[in-house]
Amino acid sequence: MASKKKTLIVDALDKHIDDSNKPYIHKNKEPRFIPSGLGTPCLRKLFYIYSKVPQDNDVPVMVKKAGLVGNVYHDKLADLLREMNVLIDYYDEDGNQLKDPNGNIDLEFPIKAPDLKIKGKIDLVLKLKDKIWLGEMKSSTTKSFEYLKRMKKPAPKSQHLPQGLIYLYIFTQMLKDGEFKHIKELEGIKEVEGIIFIYINKDNHEFLEIPIKRNDKEFIKIVQKMKTVEAYYEQKQLPPGTSDFCNSCPWHSKCVKNKLS
Ligand code: SF4
Repeated sequence: MASKKKTLIVDALDKHIDDSNKPYIHKNKEPRFIPSGLGTPCLRKLFYIYSKVPQDNDVPVMVKKAGLVGNVYHDKLADLLREMNVLIDYYDEDGNQLKDPNGNIDLEFPIKAPDLKIKGKIDLVLKLKDKIWLGEMKSSTTKSFEYLKRMKKPAPKSQHLPQGLIYLYIFTQMLKDGEFKHIKELEGIKEVEGIIFIYINKDNHEFLEIPIKRNDKEFIKIVQKMKTVEAYYEQKQLPPGTSDFCNSCPWHSKCVKNKLS
């Protein structure tokens, strides 16, 4: 077999990406859901997320790179929307910007619902023609992008819908509870119109928007799914898995060994 040619820089770059994206070890072990995890069809994966089980050490670097590229795209789009004066940034009651655990300025709105044991941050809060919309950015392959474009009744991917709806319900509740009353850009706002999924075709960089409104039936289904996972957690049992998305699952090694933690 021919030996792999030594590279000037790209192998070192891959290694750096691999090394600097080690599984995050949570200091606070209290279980909690994160909105982006709710769309998985796999209850077991949601269990791992909820119970803060560290991800495998052998997540392929390609998977890490895909996440990295998504983050870069996300940050750039947020900058552009800010330039267009349609993006509302978050700041605390003293007018200070928040920082993420790496010390970087973090302008996304934090959301939390202690009764649902969930916390997260919303990609975008947009003011469009004096109405408030939330926004969520998703990158996509040409194949799934074209599928979304051809839909007669446009809808986000099924694995993305729960994340969007949970943002919508929790943000609306927090708005009603006065949690954002210090944000002057939200003064007088009582309602949120909906959430816009902005899909980005990562092959040709085309954009597609899919707005959605509240959907109580779907929201109840999400809450039921969360309650199911919580019940498994309380009984210290692993829920069943699915065969979908296993190749890119960051808990794959633990899952095949039926590990609980
Ligand atoms: S490897 Fe597959 S079955 Fe196991 S947790 Fe991940 S997605 Fe679920």
